[in-house]
Order: sequence, then structure tokens, then C-alpha cells
Amino acid sequence: MKIKKMQKRLFGTNGVRGVIGKEITPELALRIGQALGTMRPGHIAVGMDTRTSGPTLADALKAGLLATGCDVVDCGILPTPALQYIVKEHYDGGAMITASHNPPEYNGVKIIEPDGTEMGDEETIRLEEQLSDKSLPTKPWDRVGTEIAAPHLIEEYIQSIAGQFPEKPGNGMTVVVDPGSGPACQTTPAILQALGCRVITINGIMDGTFPGRLPEPSPDGLKGLAALVVASKAAFGVAHDGDADRAVFIDENGSFIEENKEFSLITQHICRNAKGTIVTPVSTSQVVELIANKEGCTVQYTPVGSIYVARTMRELIAGGKLVVFGGEGNGGLIFPKHQFCRDGGMTAATMVSLLATTGQRLSLLVAQLPERHMIKEKIATPHGSRLIELLNKRYAQENIDCTDGLKIKRQNTWALIRASGTEPLIRIMVDANDKKAGSALYQEMKNSVYEILQTLS
Ligand code: MG
Repeated sequence: MKIKKMQKRLFGTNGVRGVIGKEITPELALRIGQALGTMRPGHIAVGMDTRTSGPTLADALKAGLLATGCDVVDCGILPTPALQYIVKEHYDGGAMITASHNPPEYNGVKIIEPDGTEMGDEETIRLEEQLSDKSLPTKPWDRVGTEIAAPHLIEEYIQSIAGQFPEKPGNGMTVVVDPGSGPACQTTPAILQALGCRVITINGIMDGTFPGRLPEPSPDGLKGLAALVVASKAAFGVAHDGDADRAVFIDENGSFIEENKEFSLITQHICRNAKGTIVTPVSTSQVVELIANKEGCTVQYTPVGSIYVARTMRELIAGGKLVVFGGEGNGGLIFPKHQFCRDGGMTAATMVSLLATTGQRLSLLVAQLPERHMIKEKIATPHGSRLIELLNKRYAQENIDCTDGLKIKRQNTWALIRASGTEPLIRIMVDANDKKAGSALYQEMKNSVYEILQTLS
């Protein structure tokens, strides 16, 4: 049942991504279009976020698809989860031009499977093999594809989320939305209005120069949102990353809610209505498991990356398990009743439902969660995978989990050490219920890492 991570050459955990004109060029987009068109013949939906380089890459990618005989459905600018929903409902595959939370000079491509999930490792490796094939096939004049524009399909996505909340829980609740000049300008305000909310926006005009804030919804970048939440006496503020598959929140006092706490609150809300399994990567804070267990639910862990979460959810369900929720500790949450991908619009709508159900202020709900202490650190080394092997041996007698890197569990405290797949470094993460225990475990891990590294260099 466990899904294993496989190493890819070009694609990372969320598609191919890089700086436009350097790693990412129209030529590469053209070849991705040809490779995808060869692998997934049929109707392919194409969408993009608001980046200035979007049209260049989209046109090149569409040309590649058309040349291999695919029919292209151009959905224009929309959130990644909106394109995923549209593909799941209507088409044979999709390609999203986006660099998610990366700065404006970045762009990339996420490939979407017919079921709306992001392409898994095995298929992505096949796509990469096609890409390196010098002679990608093109079709003759009478078999090239056709293209239609379908900007109206975004409406189906908005309605699909609004339809999950027929009781209209908004009921006049004031919410401030910060789509960060990204594609959610077109969706999240409309979704929340359909739920009965009074919506105020900031950075609500689509603009690929990102004049208000960067696409990463960091606490620093959301100061404007926080001030507006307080000034407008809103129930909460919500912000998205550059392609709106993630959502993060500001409480009514203007405080940023750490994403693992956000995950926990929504877990609590969902588990009170449905019992089953929650799926999340090994890097998620234990606060989610503590809350899930308290509500009579269990947690299944996966490698780090939303595709592993989504695919594990699907496999568990196929095996007859009841899976009620999934997600990552970065505001990327997956609602299986809606679709099997992270969805920022759905997350924002669920927060409205959560507040309406509890009748409590968001800051108080956050304050009731168990306190956790997290430490995150990077150490530069080219020996990442060998180091993990040796650490594995050193801690073999302990309660360990090798789903992704090495996770050492001691009561309610754990440490995770993972080698980066793209950079010469390792990541150490500690999550503890007590600050002192957390620091002690972190220090011990760091010492072990340096001790082993000395033998390797
Ligand atoms: Mg994203």
C-alpha cells in the first residue's frame, strides 16, 4: 500500500520549475507539449497563473500538443485546482503553466492526469524519457489538433465548491481575501460570496508583476491583509499562493495561523462529522495526529509531496478504507469529497463552515490546540543519501519510520532527517510537545549528522 518516491531528472515533486529564460524556455514548453500529446492523446486542457511569462509558455506548449494531434482546450487564467477539477470532469489530461509560490521570474509546468491528480513519479519519468527523445513525432496536416477557448469553465469549479455548502454558512460573515494578484482573484471571492459572506479583497486584481506581495503567502507579506482584517472587523483573512492550491489564514486579531494549526483545526472540524483516515506526509506536525486521534480518527503517513498524499488517499479508498481528509503542513489541504488535490478555494470555504459550526472566534479555536515546538534546519552536504543510510543503522534499535528519509520517534517528540532531491543538502526537522525535549533531540541529531559526515568527507 505504501507509495515510494522515485527520483526524476527534470521534474520535482510539483512539476518542472525554474527561472524563465534559463531553465524554463518556450522550447522546453513546446517539447513538453509534444511529449504529453504523444503520451496522452485526446482533449488536453491548458491553464496558467498570472505570471507575465505565462502566455509565451502556454502558446509553445499548446503548439506541441496540437502538432501531435491533441485537441487543446484553453481555459485561460485559473487556479491549479480549478484546472484539475475541469480535467477530472471533462478531459483526457491537462497542463498548468505555473511556478506556484516562487518569485515572479520563475515559471513551470504541472501535468494533470485524467482523474485530476498531478502526474505520479512513474508516468513523469516516462514523460521525461519522451522529452529526451530527439525525434518527437508530429502529425500530418489532416491529423493535427484543433483548439478552443473555454474561459467559462472556471464557473463550474466555483459552483462545485459552493455546492458542497448548500446551507450557505457565510450568513453575512465578513472575510478578507488576499489572492496575491494571482488567479484566485477570479474564484475565492466568488466562492465565499456564494456561501453568503461579505467579501473584501486586497491584492485582488490579477497582475503578474505581483505589485502588492510575492506569491509565497508568508506572514511578512500578509501584513496588509492582517491590518485590513482588524480594520474591517472581519471573522478572518485568507491568502493564497501563486496558483491557489494552498490557503493560509489570519485570525480576527490579525495574527497569522501557523499552517499545521490550520490543518489541525480543519481536521477537527472534518473528524467531528466523519470518522476515518487522515493522510499526510511524515513532515507534518504531530498536532494533526493528536487532534485526529482525539476525534476517533487515524493518520496514515506518506513521503513528502502532495502527489504522494493524493495517490495514497486514492489507493486507500480503492482498498476499501474510509479516507476523510488529507494535506500538508503548508496550507495545502485535500478534501476527498471534492477532489484529490490541494485546493485553496475549498480550504477557504471550509473555514467559513468551521466558524459557522463552532460559533467561536478563530483565535480562541487556535488557542485550544495542543502547543507544539518545531525546529527546522538545513545542512549543506553532498553525501545526503549515504548519511541517511548510516543514520538508519545508528538508530535501528529505536522507533523509526523510513517512509521518507529517517524519522525517529520518542514518545510525543520526533526528528526527521531527509536528503534533498534537488540540492546538495539535508533537512533536519524536530517536532516536540516540550521546548526542552525538542532542543535536546535536535542537538543530538545535529551531533550525529556531523559525526557521520566527518567519516564521509
Ligand atoms: Mg501552489
